[in-house]
Amino acid sequence: MIDFNRPAFTGKELEYIRDAVNRGMLCGDGAYTKQCSRWMEERFHVNHVLLTPSCTHALEMAAYLADIQPGDEVIMPSYTFVSTADAFVLRGAKIVFTDIRLDTMNMDETLIEDAITPKTKAIVPVHYAGVACEMDTIMEIAARHHLKVIEDAAQGVNAFYKGRALGTIGDFGCYSFHETKNYTMGEGGALLFQDEKYLERAEILREKGTDRSRFFRGQVDKYRWVDYGSSYLPSELNAAYLYAQLEVCEEIDRKRMEIYHYYHEHLKCLADAGEILQPTVPKECIHNAHMYFIRVRDLKTRTRLLAYLKERGICSVFHYVPLHSAPAGRRFGRFHGEDVYTTKESERLLRLPMFYNLSMDEVKQVTEAILAFFKG
Ligand SMILES: *Cc1c(COP(=O)(O)O)cnc(C)c1O
Repeated sequence: MIDFNRPAFTGKELEYIRDAVNRGMLCGDGAYTKQCSRWMEERFHVNHVLLTPSCTHALEMAAYLADIQPGDEVIMPSYTFVSTADAFVLRGAKIVFTDIRLDTMNMDETLIEDAITPKTKAIVPVHYAGVACEMDTIMEIAARHHLKVIEDAAQGVNAFYKGRALGTIGDFGCYSFHETKNYTMGEGGALLFQDEKYLERAEILREKGTDRSRFFRGQVDKYRWVDYGSSYLPSELNAAYLYAQLEVCEEIDRKRMEIYHYYHEHLKCLADAGEILQPTVPKECIHNAHMYFIRVRDLKTRTRLLAYLKERGICSVFHYVPLHSAPAGRRFGRFHGEDVYTTKESERLLRLPMFYNLSMDEVKQVTEAILAFFKG
């Protein structure tokens, strides 16, 4: 049985969790949380990183801090995970879905401007599979129309666009450390931003609407309820697990790249024969081997291939049901322009097993099963 995903385990996680227990503080913003934030701030050259219990929560914080109001419109691809839209719908926004590019499955930057109306407040690029959207173009459009840019970089941790870390380019960036992502803490995420002006409101929102963060820094002598708030702090237990992974991120990357390149090289013959489409990475992007996906001819072929792999004990999966076609998507949003690629490409895409503890022997088995399917 070859799983589609297993959460990365690199060796030091339990030791750090034990250490967190011994320190006697398991709530949020302890030593491990701070170490994770600092590590990302330094490595990704970003001024502020706040660890959150999920990327969904980071997106919710971003939607709040970007001042999204009921009736505002937010532009995003329809080909994405539900959380990208959920966070904005919670604030009463209307979602305007646009089509994706054939090559990267990312939002097509050339279609954004036409979707802008006087109600538009923000653009939400999603860096699919850790391959960057065309950020220069997106940032230029946003600047011209005074829109906020919130990067859904859930899949883009430690991936780069023209040398800049994904999640650090727009007004806000959101990371995920869910167990299906490259580095994990079980459930977790982070909110990133460069601009100091968001810090105070972000800390208050994250700390139940109180100025507790300032209290801990000795800036006020008691903490009080001062504004809107929720609880967006992960436990130290989770942060300890994550820190063990961040410390050895090169090792995790090396392994994922090895798997990615194995699939890429050994399935190339199918691409040459016109049976599949392989992923492409624009030259200005450095990706993080978050995912290896192939696109087959059509939905029928994909259904057959998934069943064929399953019979051989290999778990491969597909995603996403385009949001604009889902019940909530129809209720809270609309698709702008023509759906040329979103539905068609989503129906023929499948993801191959890809995780740190997957053995190269298993990768070989998956590859051979796919080759055999197309030979048969
Ligand atoms: C995983 C993912 C999310 C959600 O992340 P959580 O940490 O599970 O909340 C959001 N957007 C995209 C594109 C994702 O892949």
